[in-house]
Amino acid sequence: MWYFSEEEKALQELCRDFAINELAPKAEHHDNEESFNIEAFKKMGEIGLLGITADPAYGGSGLGATAATIVMEELGKACPASTLSYLAHSILCVNNIQNNASEEQKQKYLPKLISGEWIGCMGMSEADYGSDAVGIQTRAKLEGDQYKINGSKMWITNAQYSDIAYVYTRTGEEKKNLTTFILEKDKNQFEVGKPIHKMGMRASPTGELIFKNATVPLANRVGEEGDSVYHMMKNLEIERITIAGISLGVARACTEQSIKYAQERKQFGKEIGKFQLIQKMIAEMSTETDMMAHFLYGVAKEYDNGNKGPAIAAKVKLALPKMATKIALDAIQLHGGYGYSREFPVERLMRDNKLNEIGAGTNEVMIMIIAKDLLKDLKPKK
Ligand SMILES: Cc1cc2nc3c(=O)[nH]c(=O)nc-3n(C[C@H](O)[C@H](O)[C@H](O)COP(=O)(O)OP(=O)(O)OC[C@H]3O[C@@H](n4cnc5c(N)ncnc54)[C@H](O)[C@@H]3O)c2cc1C
Repeated sequence: MWYFSEEEKALQELCRDFAINELAPKAEHHDNEESFNIEAFKKMGEIGLLGITADPAYGGSGLGATAATIVMEELGKACPASTLSYLAHSILCVNNIQNNASEEQKQKYLPKLISGEWIGCMGMSEADYGSDAVGIQTRAKLEGDQYKINGSKMWITNAQYSDIAYVYTRTGEEKKNLTTFILEKDKNQFEVGKPIHKMGMRASPTGELIFKNATVPLANRVGEEGDSVYHMMKNLEIERITIAGISLGVARACTEQSIKYAQERKQFGKEIGKFQLIQKMIAEMSTETDMMAHFLYGVAKEYDNGNKGPAIAAKVKLALPKMATKIALDAIQLHGGYGYSREFPVERLMRDNKLNEIGAGTNEVMIMIIAKDLLKDLKPKK
């Protein structure tokens, strides 16, 4: 994009090379095996990606949403699942600690999370509370100067590999009385349940976090009791912008792969790219991908310039994953039987991308947020 800074352009190059060399060659293997590319993850620490938005004082890069979105797009083109794990670590865990934790907590947790020595996750969702996140039932009760935590979290990206979990709990009966903690695996502050087997994002580990009377010192509480809703809402915007970056990567990969295939595959004695119906598919895929990029990076830049808001983040989160799923389905169609097989990456990209219509808030929840903003002048029912 013309408005990327020199630093952002250099980051784009770095991530493009990393994705080609470290993620792409192993993406199919890890998808098939449902395994985590931990070597690549650790290398992300070595090349300075894991603390993309964190303060340089803790080893971070001190960059914004635009830079984080560039990373998601470039890595997402090669392996959306590894990128989802990267997002859970760098945006859901590290960025939350950066923005909400105390100085002592930042000094204790951020350097090891940013170097890649530790892996992090974020636990908001529960088995019975997904879209209704404010309804969560995992309880934290203060006893002296320690909390006892009981309950469980569901669908947690990186659960099986996490040393640190940034977790939301209930500390009172009032709906919004939710409190945040940073929990440590080594101190038995959480256990990990069974892995969850999925349709896509199979190279991103997903699991349960379980708390059985976990003893957690007051020092691990983030902010005050009741601060969680503020923490959640503040981080969701960058979460939604950056996850849309993975969908942009998917759309680009599918478009590029389709253009290549249309020039190689022959039927009726000529390249399928000579058929107008195929040309229409490619022209539309490319146009939609360009639209996605301009919308997404425009919103990311606005966010970095301080023009934030839940509705605009919800709009990119609604638009991009849906468009990328459509583009990926078209790419499968264009590849015919080969597209439906595991010989080409387009079916994996489609399966992976579908998650982006669900995680970080479903399409329906995005519609609710956007409509609430547009219709805010409607008077409440008497
Ligand atoms: C692979 C994967 C990774 C994830 N990673 C994490 C993670 O790291 N941390 C974390 O905390 N969570 C994570 N999640 C959880 C994710 O955020 C939730 O799945 C998501 O918020 C939806 O919640 P749910 O699955 O309980 O669906 P539900 O909330 O039960 O929704 C079911 C359906 O009802 C619709 N619906 C719900 N409420 C309304 C309404 N008011 N109006 C209209 N329709 C509605 C939904 O849109 C959906 O279609 C992950 C999920 C997956 C699948």
